[in-house]
Amino acid sequence: MKASDQPAVPSRGRRISGRAQNPASNDPYHSVEKMPDGTCCPDCGAVFSEGRWHWGECAALGPAQTCPACRRIREGAAGGILTLKGDFVRAKQQELLSLIHHQEELEKAEHALNRIMDIAVDDDGITVRTTDPRLVCRMGDALERAYEGALEIHHDEDGFFARVAWERA
Ligand SMILES: [Zn+2]
Repeated sequence: MKASDQPAVPSRGRRISGRAQNPASNDPYHSVEKMPDGTCCPDCGAVFSEGRWHWGECAALGPAQTCPACRRIREGAAGGILTLKGDFVRAKQQELLSLIHHQEELEKAEHALNRIMDIAVDDDGITVRTTDPRLVCRMGDALERAYEGALEIHHDEDGFFARVAWERA
């Protein structure tokens, strides 16, 4: 390995507006440590190969390591929070929950680490926590497309966390 090399960081730009193109570089939960191809997450069954985590077949006796998404879930470290509020949310709760789960399915099929951590439903509305910022933005966009309403998306400076609020009276 290149333990002695000080990797020159080409850009120190930390003000990423919009989506971070390469979250693998700085996000502590997307560490770029070398793992052998075929490393399997014992918690969710995702498999590491070609530099990223995929859904695949785990070899029974292969190397095992918890994937970043399962680490986030275990540590309660959300990458995104989506809140849904308003009378419409109370009236259409099941329909909105279906949309949220559907968006997760679509996202997760391509990006194994982008998942729902948990969903809380109370009198105020619905709160969804995800393992990454992209998924809550996707859900917010889908809500606005389907039902209009008021959408607010806020990315933190590093681009590793997003807070999305959607409201419809
Ligand atoms: Zn996992």
